[in-house]
Amino acid sequence: MTERRFEGVGATPTLGVGTARWFRPVDVTDLDEPPAPKSVDPAAERERFETAQAEAKTELETEREHTRERVGDNEAKVFDAHLQFLQDPQIVSGVQEALDAGVPAPHAVKTAFEGPIAQFEGMDGMMAERADDLRDIRDRLLRLLTDATRTDLGALPDDSVVLAELLTPSDTAQLDPEAVAGLATTKGGRTAHAAIIARSLGIPAVVGIGEQLDEIDDGTDLVVDGKDGVVIADPTESTRTRAKESTQTAVIDEAVTTGDGTEIEVAANLGTPAEAAPAAEQGADGVGLFRTEFLFQDRQSAPDETEQYKAYLSVCETFSEHADDPRIVVRTLDVGGDKPIDYLDLDPEENGFLGARGIRLSLDEHADLFESQLRALLRVAATDAGSGLSIMFPLVSTVEELEAALEVVDSVADDLDGEGLDYAIPELGVMIETPSSTYLADAFAERVDFLSIGTNDLTQYIQSAQRDLDRMSDYQDPLAPAVLRAIDRTVRAGHEGGAWVGMCGEMAGDPELTQLLVGLGLDELSMSAVTVPGVKAAIRETETERAEALAESVLAVDTLTGVQELL
Ligand code: PEP
Ligand code: MG
Repeated sequence: MTERRFEGVGATPTLGVGTARWFRPVDVTDLDEPPAPKSVDPAAERERFETAQAEAKTELETEREHTRERVGDNEAKVFDAHLQFLQDPQIVSGVQEALDAGVPAPHAVKTAFEGPIAQFEGMDGMMAERADDLRDIRDRLLRLLTDATRTDLGALPDDSVVLAELLTPSDTAQLDPEAVAGLATTKGGRTAHAAIIARSLGIPAVVGIGEQLDEIDDGTDLVVDGKDGVVIADPTESTRTRAKESTQTAVIDEAVTTGDGTEIEVAANLGTPAEAAPAAEQGADGVGLFRTEFLFQDRQSAPDETEQYKAYLSVCETFSEHADDPRIVVRTLDVGGDKPIDYLDLDPEENGFLGARGIRLSLDEHADLFESQLRALLRVAATDAGSGLSIMFPLVSTVEELEAALEVVDSVADDLDGEGLDYAIPELGVMIETPSSTYLADAFAERVDFLSIGTNDLTQYIQSAQRDLDRMSDYQDPLAPAVLRAIDRTVRAGHEGGAWVGMCGEMAGDPELTQLLVGLGLDELSMSAVTVPGVKAAIRETETERAEALAESVLAVDTLTGVQELL
């Protein structure tokens, strides 16, 4: 039998080998024609709806706890959003109006969700994915109202590769990483909640494969290659062996060097303090990017200085138990663009990615949040566990912004001094995410200790292709020559200015690119914790001189396919 390849988008950059098991939930929206209005009792239907709503709430709360324990606080937050949608006044009043008019509860629910789902579907990127969340809640209610049975995704046989049209966050959170060897879906993008949960559970996943996935029958042998974004059906023995070997990368607890002794720090990207311990257990030397916005999302108001102090300190403490002097890079609030926060009342913008986001908000309308965050960070930096804490500013695009941010750091330090509180000004750094910042890297390097390249945004801006649009995925490859040249320019300028240069975009976590990144001169690579062992192993196999020669030849190529062929 010959191998068949199904291309999609890699959501978890690991590989898995197993057997196809289709998950086809019953279509609960396929309802019978409603009976004539007068033949149903509105009071009984209202009670039926309220019971289903209460049951849905209990289910969601249980799943939130389950996800919090197994995956993390951050991923559990999707269930908070679902709980809010469940009580959304617009939807609930829509249901009630239909019930009052004598419509049976299931039909009332189906109709009341139609408008809000269509509204989100008409939006771009991450907002469009909220339509999936709404469908998830609607279908939960319909399942409860129609007594449809639910497939138990938590009880699959070992080595299952789950195939589905689209998994909801609730479906994905049920998956047991011990039993599930992989996941592949027809629809969905990298930033859908289901993909994020799969990544946190360390389940190899490829999403957005399209209708051709239907050609795979239950029971087919599969390799899910989340690195290359491909599912291979009926793999040959050598493909299986290669995949199996790469799934068995052992954790390397100590710092690593290349074969010839160049030290490369391998750090983890975190969203919440709860992710610190699992990341340290994967052998991360420290944290290269703590995305603090997750502390601010899905709640009614911003965390105060004390809550932030505890959160940052706890990450530092967790890592100090695993490593000597770990570096913990905390990024100041990076909201706006694709990361909305309701209580901040950010002005809606036609193109949020080019609007008020990242440091721009911290220096303007949200200067108060920036100050309280810096106060918490400077205080943690003065503790024993916090001695390796570093602060990084997101989306800096001008020297003026950086200077303004540094002035705020100084003035916060003066305030803390005046109040007699312990504080320390730690290492400071800048994210390189915009084209302008790559041209100014030398000027930044003279003013801060380090630069960290965020290839997710950098690729979006250099290639002028929105990062969360599936349609633009051909442009979103960080191996595009223009992106590689921007990285090269940044590393050189950073080093000349005396700064160390790291990378914390997704590119850093691909072991197949490690040799190239070492050759480009990066000092630190920061990534999802699951990819740390593979990258550490790849660094040990790298020889600096050969890596530099590879980087030089790659930089000379001017097409993406040329680069891919060379690699
Ligand atoms: C990046 O842009 O590469 C990055 C690491 O930041 P985020 O993905 O949080 O925007
Ligand atoms: Mg970014």
